[in-house]
Amino acid sequence: MSAEKFTNLYHLATAQLNQAIKICNLDDTVNTILQQPKNEIIINFPLRRDDGSHQLLKSYRVQHNNILGPYKGGLRFSEHIYLDEVKSLSMWMTIKNSLQGLPYGGAKGGVKINPNNYSKGELERISRTFCKYMKKYIGPNMDIPAPDMGTNSQIMDWMSDTYQSYGDKHVNSTFTGKSIECGGSQGREEATGYGVVCCIRRWARDNNYDLRGKSYIIQGFGNVGSNTAKLLSQLGMICLGVGDHTRYIKSEEGFNVFRLSDYNKEHRCLKDYPTGDTLTKEEFFSIKCDLIIPAACELVICGEEANNLNCKVVVEAANGPLDLEADDICKQRNIHVIPDILANSGGVVVSYYEWLQNNRSEYWKHEDVINKLDQRMVETYDKVLEKHKKDNVSMRMAAYIIALQNIEKVYKRVGIGEI
Ligand code: NAD
Repeated sequence: MSAEKFTNLYHLATAQLNQAIKICNLDDTVNTILQQPKNEIIINFPLRRDDGSHQLLKSYRVQHNNILGPYKGGLRFSEHIYLDEVKSLSMWMTIKNSLQGLPYGGAKGGVKINPNNYSKGELERISRTFCKYMKKYIGPNMDIPAPDMGTNSQIMDWMSDTYQSYGDKHVNSTFTGKSIECGGSQGREEATGYGVVCCIRRWARDNNYDLRGKSYIIQGFGNVGSNTAKLLSQLGMICLGVGDHTRYIKSEEGFNVFRLSDYNKEHRCLKDYPTGDTLTKEEFFSIKCDLIIPAACELVICGEEANNLNCKVVVEAANGPLDLEADDICKQRNIHVIPDILANSGGVVVSYYEWLQNNRSEYWKHEDVINKLDQRMVETYDKVLEKHKKDNVSMRMAAYIIALQNIEKVYKRVGIGEI
């Protein structure tokens, strides 16, 4: 495939999808259905700011496909969000949920704001008003949102409370990623990072690679980045570099990732972190290390960065961090890529466990949740690895094909829903 540059995420998402559809010769009708989401909901709603002024906010919920079950996927608070980005992320959720064998379709949504520019009271009003307008489109058997970039358990708690205040008082399974106090699951906070680390362990096992004392760099130190880093330090790995939207830093002897995480929680960025040498994003991505983990946002490693990578494996903890050109370059340069739809799927797996617990009024122990997550990640990773080797396709294509064929089987049984 010729190298292409993408600035619109949907072009990347559909190019990946179509590549996989071609390889597995997917049924034409299923192909047609998956090309566009079923529903694209855009709601502009007013926010009263603390100073009494009003602002109109744009919000999205895109429901891509629900043949396997209710729509499921995160909500972002991001000033850069746009419809085609949400469409891409919702399609990836359809694929990710199918790959993991979850009884869910795919969705994604969010509000176009930079959460750092709003007070706690304003964020509460945004969350509650968004939920008020979205409530007819969501529900425990219809569409189940979760946290993503710029959102967290507090925001899910406000939304869940608002949703319940409009109907049955105790239906707390419409949102996952809630706090433990409000019906969240043990292990959900670190689940995505845990899944990323499971994939790294499996990769190391398959490649006879001892991770102890090996190095990595990580972009993004929010929920996914910081939890991944903390778990990697338990494996004896060294963090040589870290970066976010404000700054990139490196340290020859390695960062204390627990201290970094506390700092980032307090300051919401790494701008004035006291240790480490500042470098540019280009210099950051060319640091010599064993693993590179983009855990921030999409399209961060494109052609040029891929040519300069100096690592053995890229682990896509974020959604869509590599474009097709970077994928091709990594392949040529023998750099392994663990794809997003597999690497970051631990979050939605534990969201599923949270939903099950809420529906059954159960509370599972932390250890039980993590053991179940570990087992499912290992099984899914190994399935993808086997397909990758057997069919001589990339890990990304192997993951897509497993997910697509799973969806195709259901459409073959039930048809396309014509009346
Ligand atoms: P978060 O908001 O907790 O953290 C995002 C991090 O990325 C922050 O450190 C932020 O400073 C950094 N960042 C934002 N924009 C950046 C930019 N332009 N350049 C460099 N750094 C930037 O978000 P998160 O929940 O950790 O999500 C990170 C990624 O993982 C996203 O792609 C998200 O879709 C994906 N993901 C998250 C989950 C989850 O459970 N939270 C699950 C699956 C996938």
